[in-house]
Amino acid sequence: MSVEIAMSRERMITNNPDLKWLGIFATGAIVTIILGFAFLLPRGDENNPVAELRRALRAGELVPYYQPVVDIRSGQLRGAEVLVRWRKPDGTLVLPGSFIPLAESSGLILEMTRDLMRRACAEAGPTLGLRPGMKIAFNFAGQLFRNESIVKDVRNIFFGSEIKLSQVVLELTERDPIENFTETRQIIAALQGLGVRIAIDDVGTGHSGLSYMLKLGVDIIKIDKMFVDAIGTDRNSTTIVETLVDLAHNMRMDVIAEGVENFEQVMHLRDLGIRSAQGYVFAPPLPGSAFLQLVEAIDPLPTAALEKLTVARAKAA
Ligand code: C2E
Ligand code: CA
Ligand code: CA
Repeated sequence: MSVEIAMSRERMITNNPDLKWLGIFATGAIVTIILGFAFLLPRGDENNPVAELRRALRAGELVPYYQPVVDIRSGQLRGAEVLVRWRKPDGTLVLPGSFIPLAESSGLILEMTRDLMRRACAEAGPTLGLRPGMKIAFNFAGQLFRNESIVKDVRNIFFGSEIKLSQVVLELTERDPIENFTETRQIIAALQGLGVRIAIDDVGTGHSGLSYMLKLGVDIIKIDKMFVDAIGTDRNSTTIVETLVDLAHNMRMDVIAEGVENFEQVMHLRDLGIRSAQGYVFAPPLPGSAFLQLVEAIDPLPTAALEKLTVARAKAA
């Protein structure tokens, strides 16, 4: 047996005025809970490192720094390597070691690398475009060489830019061993077909060994700081560098030494027949404005080219 008692809302409120306030209170509580969730939701992102990195990328907080590469025979500037920095809104600068592994594991690395190339084109394009002998290198995680679409990306980014594809170097920065040499080799060849040059980073350490030099058909090898530090003091390391340099030159590859910190090392590298080097002895990675000032001071242009640069800058502003 069931009993139903019905009464109109108005009559109920008239008989019992407290119910009206109860309704208002309940509605208020529900609205507060919903607003509270909406307010807390973006804060949840702060505890989610991938979402926070994605936000930083889209907010333009991941910026290119430029470390000069120097010709150690002539002292001339040969170009720069782009190294990413996370410039937080409060001014702190975060080094890539603490977010690149996350960018790689989350897949954000592709969007980040494309964004860095575009930023470098906009920032350094007018200055480097007028100096076609200068190169600009970007770090490319191994996984970027696993999808052919990267070839189109690189072509499109530099097609409309002042930086020519012949000025671009892509450094294969591999944390995990390459699984499919044939596929990687094909993508490297397609990129070389555009006119860019490919380097192997950190040669002699981790997975970047002789087999990479022999199998990938690259144009440049970068000798890791670990070996540069040991040259002249450790006989075995010196022999390894000598062997790598001989092999590279026989295979018509260029060699760049990394992490050079004093002039004694510069002399040793020169004796080994190495032509290019980068390191704190010359300059640390510099923000765009400082790097461009350095280029213009070391390699001033004739007046006509300077006028062209001023016009290009005025247009860009
Ligand atoms: P890396 O490509 O081997 O870059 C050289 C690192 O050595 C840089 O560290 C540079 O600041 C540092 N360095 C340069 N000269 C000297 C020196 O004379 N002494 C010492 N002690 N260090 C020197 P950084 O900028 O912290 O970058 C660390 C690594 O993060 C890079 O190593 C590279 O593997 C990775 N990385 C940086 N930017 C990117 C990027 O845009 N994409 C990818 N995939 N990786 C990047
Ligand atoms: Ca590198
Ligand atoms: Ca390195």
